[in-house]
Amino acid sequence: TTHRPYNFSAGPAVLPEEVLREAAAEMLDWHGSGMGVMEMSHRGKEFIAIHEAAERDLRELLAVPAHFHILFMQGGGLGENAIVPLNLSRGGAVDVVVTGAWSKKSAGEARKYADVAIAASNEADGHTSRPAPSSWQLRRGASYVHLCSNETIHGVEYGELPDLAALGSDAPLVVDCSSHILSRGIDWSRVGLAFAGAQKNIGPAGLTLVFVREDLLDRALPICPSAFEYKTVAAHGSMFNTPPTYGIYIAGLVFQWLKRQGGVAEMSRRADAKAQLLYGALDGSGGFYANKVAPEGRSRMNVPFFLRDESLNDAFLAGAREAGLLQLKGHKSVGGMRASIYNAMPIEGVQALVGYLNEFARRHG
Ligand code: PMP
Repeated sequence: TTHRPYNFSAGPAVLPEEVLREAAAEMLDWHGSGMGVMEMSHRGKEFIAIHEAAERDLRELLAVPAHFHILFMQGGGLGENAIVPLNLSRGGAVDVVVTGAWSKKSAGEARKYADVAIAASNEADGHTSRPAPSSWQLRRGASYVHLCSNETIHGVEYGELPDLAALGSDAPLVVDCSSHILSRGIDWSRVGLAFAGAQKNIGPAGLTLVFVREDLLDRALPICPSAFEYKTVAAHGSMFNTPPTYGIYIAGLVFQWLKRQGGVAEMSRRADAKAQLLYGALDGSGGFYANKVAPEGRSRMNVPFFLRDESLNDAFLAGAREAGLLQLKGHKSVGGMRASIYNAMPIEGVQALVGYLNEFARRHG
């Protein structure tokens, strides 16, 4: 049987082939409406049905409680770095846990609006450790605590979210879960707000998901743009301005695909199997390859690794492309390689990558 090349991009990233085929089949005429989804009014009954189904399925997949609003927004993760402090900081204290490039950016952007302190940082070890929540310096009365639960570039993941109340903090936890959303459940009792750009584990770039607890809606600074004010967006059911309609449609198809696969629990089981296979191959390569993240913090989604002999990097990438293994080049700030193994990456893709890793090491070791 033939298959498409395996695509290890960190995002925009691989989507389930079934979803791409459905979207292709419906491109010119969605369900007999005579229109493609991109051509529909967001206020027409066809798109409203698409939107409502997507939100319902997402709420079911992640067991999102009724006191959380689900907002379909725009602006991506970097947009949320400004939108969150505009909505939640009250101009006061914000504590940020820095575990990689994305949380560092979040801290920098929040400084425009709030008094930011770094609660913990793994910068000194090159973003390879995972600071234990018990070591975080949390300030009394902080407006919120920001955590990136999966650092896409450095490959550091918090599987379990911290219980801030148990750490003596009464601040809501804000989680950037862009790169591992829907690969595991979320303990909503520990979360005030979670956001995720869609372009990794959900669908096309341009859609941003925000989950915000009801009691946090009323805190926006007066300068917050209306289109980015959670209260306004929630009051209009994510239709204050024109939402990214095609992205919502594809996300909805992905949510239906996830339900057919067995939901988030099944994705988490598969993520374990894929990550074990890949880290096992890297660790078992006798030092030919190395992932430098502390074992307990290793991401199940984004696996950065290095060749011992970096002069082989170009040959590694060229051979990978030839073997149908795409977009393995590491982020430019880190170098080396990175394999992103999101929900839509089948285990067969990771098996093919491991086969290539072993063969390349044999040839060049
Ligand atoms: N946060 C995380 C964890 C990310 O992985 C990314 C994108 N790689 C961003 C934020 C930034 O997202 P965007 O480019 O959509 O603004």
